Amino acid sequence: MNLRLYDTLTREKRPFVPGDPSRVTMYVCGPTVYNYAHIGNARPVVVFDLLFRLLRHLYGEDHVLYAANVTDVDDKINLKASREGVEIGAITARYLAAYQQDMRSLGALAPTFQPRATETMDAIIAMIARLIHANAAYEAQGHVLFDTQAYGDYGALSGRSLDDMIAGARVEVAPYKRHGADFVLWKPSKPGEPVWDSPFGAGRPGWHIECSAMIEQALGLPIDIHGGGADLIFPHHENERAQGICADHAGGGYARYWLHNGFLNMGTEKMSKSLGNVALVHDLLETAPGEALRWALAGSHYRQPLAWTEDVVAQAKGALDRLYGALRRVQGVKAEAVGPPDAFMDAILDDLNTPKANAELFALAKALETAPVSERARLKGQLLASGGLLGFLQDDPERWFHAGIDPELSARIEALIAARIEARSAKDFARADEIRGQLTAMGIEVMDSAAGATWRREPA
Ligand SMILES: [Zn+2]
Repeated sequence: MNLRLYDTLTREKRPFVPGDPSRVTMYVCGPTVYNYAHIGNARPVVVFDLLFRLLRHLYGEDHVLYAANVTDVDDKINLKASREGVEIGAITARYLAAYQQDMRSLGALAPTFQPRATETMDAIIAMIARLIHANAAYEAQGHVLFDTQAYGDYGALSGRSLDDMIAGARVEVAPYKRHGADFVLWKPSKPGEPVWDSPFGAGRPGWHIECSAMIEQALGLPIDIHGGGADLIFPHHENERAQGICADHAGGGYARYWLHNGFLNMGTEKMSKSLGNVALVHDLLETAPGEALRWALAGSHYRQPLAWTEDVVAQAKGALDRLYGALRRVQGVKAEAVGPPDAFMDAILDDLNTPKANAELFALAKALETAPVSERARLKGQLLASGGLLGFLQDDPERWFHAGIDPELSARIEALIAARIEARSAKDFARADEIRGQLTAMGIEVMDSAAGATWRREPA
């Protein structure tokens, strides 16, 4: 059983072999913090959290280093700050805190490092200086540009040729650029924008250089896995790769594997402000448990496009109801300390085949419900271990079914159930039935078992 991952650069699924199994490294491009994250922003977070958890399972928790950056210098941040008349730090602090809380609610573990552009400025400037020294970058009119002609492999990641890119460039090329495809490493700040001193003049970095400098500083080159959404392949990752390789004197390369998750669409449409269909994680969490949103994001294969609909969320909730239901029926059984079964591991090790892995969760739940008593402890252990590896099923089943129910209502339901038990033990069955009728009218289903009564909100 070996992990195989689809590498965007070589366009094939290949065995994952880290440079050093005692220090596996992964970098994923993170958010620009100027607004609440939408569900499309959350997809790579959940996908690469799955991979982070799997790597920790395979190599040990202390042997996997995961860095995801926070872009806190950006035109959109500047614009928002100037509109509100505050410093950019006030905007980024507000939305970074919201982002971290939302991603926690989706069950994403905190990355090992969350470097910020503003705290990486020395490394960014040093890397630009090295690129100039290596003749891979040039200064022009207060800008520093990467010279795409200096790097023969430019375009390999995205499968584009430099000639096509230049021929296809519809926008007028800025006069300070030698070639149309050259991109900005450093630029002068406009009045009112944040500014840093540098050997190339006062200004601020371009976006692409930030990731390469952070990767080098936080993890060291080359890294094992570089990830992000498919929309980042070009130009962002193409540019990162070019500057990262050209700045690396040791010549060890930039990233061993490039992984990209597919797009998330709102049903059949692209998510966009102009269509008014932007779904914020923050708002979705008001309507569904974070774990259900996580399932909805992780349930289809990560490389496939995902059509986000209310149905996808309802199905995710239903899937977790089934699994938590199976766990609730064996609450009295102590789970055996076992790992996930082979069939589950085979699925997840095959380029994170979550549809197949989830099917194995259902197979385990079914087996658990029909197994003889002697096998339940093992099956329960396997279901919990498999679910846990994906960041699912770690909640108390009872709590899962009561999540989202107002505590006051919950207390009233508990009181009615207690009264019903009392009526039944006093053999006042008319009263017991009356209470059950009251609960049904409230949309609450009561389930009696040898261990006592449990309840849940009836599925809509
Ligand atoms: Zn990046």
